[in-house]
Amino acid sequence: MTSKVFFADLKSRSEEGNTQNKLVRLFDMAGMDGIIEKGDLVALKLHFGESGCDAHIRPSHVGRIARRVKELGGSPFATDTNTLYKGSRHNSVDHLRTAVENGFDAAVLGCPVIIADGLTGKNAVSVKVDLKRIKSARIAGDIFHADSMIVMTHFKAHMVAGFGGAIKNVAMGCATAYGKMDQHFARPNVDPDVCIGCGLCTEVCPVSALKVIQGKARIDKATCIGCGECMTVCENDAIGLDWGSEIPPFNERMVEYAFAAVKDKKGKVGYINFLMQISPDCDCVPWSDSPIVPDIGILASMDPVALDRACFDLVNAQEGIKGSHLKRNLARGEDKFKGLRPNTDGYHQIRYAAGIGLGSEDYELVPL
Ligand code: SF4
Ligand code: SF4
Repeated sequence: MTSKVFFADLKSRSEEGNTQNKLVRLFDMAGMDGIIEKGDLVALKLHFGESGCDAHIRPSHVGRIARRVKELGGSPFATDTNTLYKGSRHNSVDHLRTAVENGFDAAVLGCPVIIADGLTGKNAVSVKVDLKRIKSARIAGDIFHADSMIVMTHFKAHMVAGFGGAIKNVAMGCATAYGKMDQHFARPNVDPDVCIGCGLCTEVCPVSALKVIQGKARIDKATCIGCGECMTVCENDAIGLDWGSEIPPFNERMVEYAFAAVKDKKGKVGYINFLMQISPDCDCVPWSDSPIVPDIGILASMDPVALDRACFDLVNAQEGIKGSHLKRNLARGEDKFKGLRPNTDGYHQIRYAAGIGLGSEDYELVPL
C-alpha cells in the first residue's frame, strides 16, 4: 500500500502562502479535518523542549492547529509526558514551567496545556499488544482517554534511535516513565582508555549510577535505568552501548510502544512533521546545536511510517552544512544520521514499523 504524504516548502511571497496558512492546508489535505468529531477531546502531542533548547516546533504553529481543531468542533489540549531523567520536565510542575518558558502557554496556543501522565507520571493505562518485545505498554492516561490526536513533531537526529520523528514522538512521548524505562533497556559502558575522569556524566545521571573512581567513570549497572543522558554530555565519546546487539532491540521496543499508543485510536490520529532547524540532537538536551542540513518544509500524513520515511529521505537528499556537528556523509544522498553516529540505524525503525503494521514505508509525496 502506498500512503500519501503532503509537503509544503517554506518559500512564500504572499500572505496566503505564509507558513500558518500552508499548515492548515496541509492539515486538511492530509484528511485530518475528517478525524475530528464535534465534542472530541483532541490531544496535540508535542515535545515542549528541555529548558535551554529552542529547536522545538514553534508555539504559534501549534496555536494555528489548535484553532483549526476548534473550528471543527473539537476541544484541543497541548500535551506531553514527564521524562525518565531529571532535568526540567521530570514532573508536571517543572514540565509546565518549562513549557511556558519555551512559549507553550495557553495564551499563545489558545488551548490548555496538560501533562498527560499526571503530577509524577503515575496516570497510566496498560495497553495489551502482545508483540515480539512488548506485551503490555504503559501509556499516559490523558492521551489514552483523548478521542483523537494530532502528533506534531520536530524531525531531528537522535543519538540512539538515529533520528527522532513521528514514531519516536508517539512511542516515548505517550509512555509514562515506566513505559520509557521499558524501551530504554540497554545499559551503556565506559571505555576507560578514553575517559578522562572529568565527571560531567556524573552530574546528569538521574539515579546517581555514575561515579568517578581513580580518575575513571564507572557505571553501577544495577542502578542505571538506561536513559542515555551520560552519553549525550560526554565530550570524549567515552560512553557507548554494545551497538550491534542493543540498538535493534531498542528501536523495536520503541516502535512497539508507538503501535500501542495509537492502537485504540484507529483513523483518529494525524501526524505533522516539521523539517526546520534539523538539529544533531533530540529536544531533550538543554541546548540547540546548529542545523545539519538546511530547512526543508512541513509534511503531513495519516501514516506515521510513510511520513518518517519521507522525512528521512528528504534530509538525506540535502547537502550537509559545513561547520555543523555533521562531519561525515555531507554529500547529497548520503545518510546524515549515520554520518553523525555511524553505529545507529534509524532506518530500522521504519522497516520494523512497516513490518508490524504501524504503516507503510511506500509513500507518494504530494506537494501543496
Ligand atoms: S563525561 Fe566522559 S570523560 Fe568525563 S568522566 Fe564521564 S565518561 Fe569520563
Ligand atoms: S548511567 Fe547513564 S544511562 Fe545509566 S541512568 Fe545514569 S545517565 Fe542514564
